[in-house]
Amino acid sequence: MAERLVCIVCPVGCDLELSVRSGEVLVEGNRCPKGFDYAAAEAIDPRRTLTTTLPVAGGSERLVPVRVDRVPRGRMLEAMGTLRRMSVAAPAPIGSRVGTIRIGDEELPVVTTAAVERAR
Ligand code: SF4
Repeated sequence: MAERLVCIVCPVGCDLELSVRSGEVLVEGNRCPKGFDYAAAEAIDPRRTLTTTLPVAGGSERLVPVRVDRVPRGRMLEAMGTLRRMSVAAPAPIGSRVGTIRIGDEELPVVTTAAVERAR
């Protein structure tokens, strides 16, 4: 059975039709090869960016926003369970790698998306 999705790689937003037959990924509606790659990744190993906040130790703010890229879509709850046990020591500039989470064989970096100063 075919699945319909919109390619999000560029602003054109092609309507894609994706199916897998005998292990082969078939994509229709893509105007360029990037659409095929996007749809194939969605079929085989869909990933999402997970955003949340973590508590800050000794900081001017109680929480700091963080992101984890390329989390397998089906393992978001597992990732959140690991993040729930983490905290960030202040100060931490924006873009700081404040830890990693293990999902299967992969170590995915946890990165701040805002700066947090030390408490005064
Ligand atoms: S298939 Fe190509 S042209 Fe269409 S939205 Fe995706 S990247 Fe853009």
